[in-house]
Amino acid sequence: MTSTVELTATDIPQERRLVTALPGPKSTELQARRVAAVSKGVSGMLPIYIDRAGGGILVDIDGNQLIDMGAGIAVTNVGNAAPAVVEAVQAQVAKFTHTCFMVTSYEGYVEVCEALNRLTPGDHDKRSALFNSGAEAVENAIKVSRAYTKRQAVVVFEHGYHGRTNLTMAMTAKNMPYKQSFGPFASEIYRVPLSYPFHDGNRAGADVAADVISKIEKEIGADNVAAIIIEPIAGEGGFIVPAPGFLPSLVSFANDNGIVFIADEIQTGFCRTGSWFASEHEGIVPDMMTTAKGIAGGLPLAGLTGRAEIMDSVHAGGLGGTYGGNPVACAAAVAAISIMEEQDLAGRAREIEAVMIPRLKSIAEKTGVIGDIRGRGAMIAVELVKKGTNTPDAEFTSAVSKACHAQGVVVLTAGTYGNVLRFLPPLVMPMHLLEEALDIIEEAFVSLTK
Ligand SMILES: *Cc1c(COP(=O)(O)O)cnc(C)c1O
Repeated sequence: MTSTVELTATDIPQERRLVTALPGPKSTELQARRVAAVSKGVSGMLPIYIDRAGGGILVDIDGNQLIDMGAGIAVTNVGNAAPAVVEAVQAQVAKFTHTCFMVTSYEGYVEVCEALNRLTPGDHDKRSALFNSGAEAVENAIKVSRAYTKRQAVVVFEHGYHGRTNLTMAMTAKNMPYKQSFGPFASEIYRVPLSYPFHDGNRAGADVAADVISKIEKEIGADNVAAIIIEPIAGEGGFIVPAPGFLPSLVSFANDNGIVFIADEIQTGFCRTGSWFASEHEGIVPDMMTTAKGIAGGLPLAGLTGRAEIMDSVHAGGLGGTYGGNPVACAAAVAAISIMEEQDLAGRAREIEAVMIPRLKSIAEKTGVIGDIRGRGAMIAVELVKKGTNTPDAEFTSAVSKACHAQGVVVLTAGTYGNVLRFLPPLVMPMHLLEEALDIIEEAFVSLTK
């Protein structure tokens, strides 16, 4: 096991410490300013304001130290303010901050594309393009696959999440809060069932895929389909790992029918699931992949990587944007990717999984309200149900989450039914903090089921 001192590389003491009730007085004051200044449409899980962060700790402006089990939604995989990232950003920002890659170019952009082409599955010839956000990468994946196939239909999945722009809202399954009152939505988006072992009676992946394929053939027509896009593990949908065989069956159907198969690895990518990308767990090779979140240690950057002939099928000038692949974000990404490679953070994610699963199993046995424990690597979730049933319990999930927050452990919720508690620690999380977070999660479960 790698030493955590070397991994965390932060001068913030790696300990949970509450010096006020949460939120503290300074956070409470800022919260009032927020309410007066910031749109209500942008909500917040905790009314806590952060001053510094590093390793597995978030320090708030009142001096409380919280354990970070969310990593800013799977973003700070290499840790917050990781020294190598900070150094690379500082050096770049002092040289130049922007030229627009489409006007005059720079090495960082090319370097990130080279890394993406090298690290994503498959040894075929690849090309990449960079954007500002995950949603923008997804939009561009659809643009490219339509241009390449000269077809329009896009197949998406139940429980899928792809972003908040107009096209990606249409592609996202869940209405509240993402879509409610924001229509009309983009056309030519078709939603099909997802393999969801806990709720489909553990059906074989290939059987669910056969139903999906039949639906595509009967309701859309395979030769009208430009792309099938799927998260190899549904993120916002509740860390749903499809049954083995589901993804490979879809890939071969896509290959046989000239359909571009796109893996949306925005949440699952960059060592999160115990390998560079979650597609690797089933050995699938997507034609195209979208990445973002964990790519740049917290700076906004997204990537689209695909087969050269697909990515190069678009006319010059058809892709791009003012800020896409900003030099500072690219410098951060090059540094973050080096950290992941040098410190084997994929291996680290597997170590986190090995600690979490037995602890969560024991909580499940003690309390009887955890219906399913799932995920891979450092992307682990529990689905909460009414005791002895498969009935989702969103209310209890929210209560557990609040109890953890009150004790200084930042956990996130997810799931179509709002009943999933998800854990996405930074991959550099010290093991003693992970154990402590699990102690507090266990206390919350036990005291709320008494
Ligand atoms: C977060 C996410 C997106 C959207 O990324 P943004 O950077 O928030 O636009 C798209 N797809 C998946 C799977 C995500 O988890």
